[in-house]
Amino acid sequence: MKSHQINKCRICKTNLNEPFLSLGYLPPANNLPQNNYEPEDKYPLELVFCNKCKLVQLNYVVNPEKLFTNYLYSSTSGMLENHFIDYAKNVAQVIGLTQNSVLVDIGSNDGLLLECFKKHISPNVIGVDPSINLADIANLNNIKTYCEFFSYQTVKKISEEFGKVDLITANNVFAHIEDITNLTINIRTLLKDNGVFVIEVPYLNNMIEIGTFDLVYHEHLSYFSITPLHYFFDKLKMNIFKIEKISTHGGSVRIFIQKNTGIHPIDNSVKTYLNKEKHLNNVNVYQIFNKKIKSSVDNFKNQLISIRNQGNVIAGYAAPAKASTLLGYSNIDNNLIEYIVDDNPLKQGRFLPGTGIPIVNTEFLKNNIPDYFVILAWNLEKIIKKKLKKTIAKRLNYIVPFVK
Ligand SMILES: [Zn+2]
Repeated sequence: MKSHQINKCRICKTNLNEPFLSLGYLPPANNLPQNNYEPEDKYPLELVFCNKCKLVQLNYVVNPEKLFTNYLYSSTSGMLENHFIDYAKNVAQVIGLTQNSVLVDIGSNDGLLLECFKKHISPNVIGVDPSINLADIANLNNIKTYCEFFSYQTVKKISEEFGKVDLITANNVFAHIEDITNLTINIRTLLKDNGVFVIEVPYLNNMIEIGTFDLVYHEHLSYFSITPLHYFFDKLKMNIFKIEKISTHGGSVRIFIQKNTGIHPIDNSVKTYLNKEKHLNNVNVYQIFNKKIKSSVDNFKNQLISIRNQGNVIAGYAAPAKASTLLGYSNIDNNLIEYIVDDNPLKQGRFLPGTGIPIVNTEFLKNNIPDYFVILAWNLEKIIKKKLKKTIAKRLNYIVPFVK
């Protein structure tokens, strides 16, 4: 599939309007170049709002092969293990899984979530992930993983070997997929009649309220609230029966979905969410969001410039995808932020896309202590500060984007 502009809504096929937010042309946030002189492919990054089903989405789709086949993210970079243990136990309890249940994780990454399910719930776990390097890690750890994009072929292979399944999970994947209708039809086919599908997605309301526009990057095609999803699953004879708030990525939701033949009663949380997000169904809120981020980017950049002009060295901490959007859109490069420290060995020695800022390991800090750290993974602020306090004796100054 080639990269392409879209002009119809992903969910309801209505013609899309003009974007309410344009971040210009940016390189894919997770393609970290190995040299800072390497020319990078850049693509438009714009958000549009569908007046009919209320979905917020990108109007340009980058060929997924360019984004996902050698993904440099792995669970180790997110310090996510405890989150996954809680996740496995919570989901098992809500839907009543047993040690005979069969579970599939789509976008299973290096298999960490499935490892938690295997240890605490049921040994019958299957991963699907298109990243060769990550699927290899999972298979080496005895988590059976199909290295491919989830498709009807995958459904056939899994159901021939394991039959229909009790649970399908897709965390931070649903927002990445262009054809979610086809994906969901395949998921429906693989699920037992009383099976459950669980997704975790960053919740649009948090992004709009806090102004965290750095969650916008080419991998994230959709920015979900519950309203469009409710409409979407209904069209496919499925329903959302429970919603939980979780803290990942600055505020996400865990959504439980079943076929209309499912056995779970509809929890009050569904109605509560639909009621409290009515303001998201009008384009005005997005125009206000646009103004807000323009002024917050100006403030952020001016703050860095004034610190730099006083002769201080500024470093970044962590190089998540959102750092590429934040620094790329703000036109911040290695003249302002000299280097970024990241614990993920896959990222070290590379550069943050579009900025020419080198990524180094913690060892580098032994001989180079910056005057200021910008915490680019602001959602991990506490963990990062604690870690740096242990590593560096000197008192450090921090700048945390989006925190007032
Ligand atoms: Zn729509």
